[in-house]
Amino acid sequence: MAGSTLRDAIPPVYGRLLGPLFDAPAIPEPRATCDDCAMCDKGPAAGAVAGDTFFSPDLKCCTYHPTLPNFLVGALFADADPALHEGRRRVRAAIARRAGVSPEWVGPPRKYRVLLEAGRVRGFGRARALVCPYLDSGRCSIWRHRESVCSTFYCKYAGGAKGKAFWMAQKHVMAGVEAALARWAARAVDPGLREPEVPLLELTAEDLDDLPPRDAEYAACFGAWVGREEELYVACHERVAAMTRDEFASVIEAAEPVASRLVELGVHHQALAQPSPTPLLVLSPRLRPTKVDGGYAVRPYSSYDALVISDDLHAVLSELRPDVPAAETFARLEREHGVVMPPELLLELWNHEILVPPEAPGPASPDPASPVGARGT
Ligand code: SF4
Ligand code: SF4
Repeated sequence: MAGSTLRDAIPPVYGRLLGPLFDAPAIPEPRATCDDCAMCDKGPAAGAVAGDTFFSPDLKCCTYHPTLPNFLVGALFADADPALHEGRRRVRAAIARRAGVSPEWVGPPRKYRVLLEAGRVRGFGRARALVCPYLDSGRCSIWRHRESVCSTFYCKYAGGAKGKAFWMAQKHVMAGVEAALARWAARAVDPGLREPEVPLLELTAEDLDDLPPRDAEYAACFGAWVGREEELYVACHERVAAMTRDEFASVIEAAEPVASRLVELGVHHQALAQPSPTPLLVLSPRLRPTKVDGGYAVRPYSSYDALVISDDLHAVLSELRPDVPAAETFARLEREHGVVMPPELLLELWNHEILVPPEAPGPASPDPASPVGARGT
């Protein structure tokens, strides 16, 4: 999914405006094999472990409805690529339905948001009611212009827990930038535009009955742009596409969380690029291993990613003590039993937070069926 730098995973309309951090090498995620979905049941021979969750092959992880910022909707309409024709048709249909549509966003109806919140853990990847309206025969019809959640979601991370932390940080940066730019662009095009006042997870009578918002409520948001929403979104895209770096910097500076999220992203990228296990390590007490043939199944950071630790490796890792440097324990095991801990295996155990510092016992709990903060949280 990602290209050769972090910038390649960002829509070009604003990717070009981001700082040098985004010239850092991309984080490839080869374990998320989307053309042969890694979350679909292929049986034990393909590595399935007891207790695994599986997705429906025709839905995969697209049981999520994106919230598209105005300037990306405009980018889609301004993109003449015939391959996006179906995507444009579907987004036009969403706009015509009005539910979830505002000057800043083309998102899901509020009722969908409530259903997603309630059904996320047990329905994600499986419930047809949650399927994305832009999923076309298993393919994304708006791929090039998809938003932050879709661009940063992977079911399994090469870097384990630390990979997940990196992509969550990238999602938070992108979501913050999208929100700031959508607001800025709408106001730049027409300062009279307004967002709906009803909170996203509250339902009106119209929401409950799958009806569009009342005309007066809709007109209070769009004003003279009612019926010209597509034109508005294209104008927002043009504004962002013409933004200078200085304008972008001042918009982002005003969007306070983005600056701190950028710092976090740098930290998480560094943790992946140069993993540095602490000298004191223990087997994470949060693993809750399950006995399987030949070893233990663990899901250290996500219920979607089971790993099997062989009996022998489990015995080795169980030798680690909180007050003895791991290198000392491994040297002793090599001396006494001829057991060698390969450095690359140690790094993998560290990245997956199977081995953790004694004072920081790993993630609070394996994220129950929560895809990267759950495509939307
Ligand atoms: S990211 Fe989605 S489509 Fe790709 S392998 Fe994972 S669940 Fe399947
Ligand atoms: S926008 Fe595309 S990637 Fe995102 S959920 Fe829909 S079909 Fe999947």
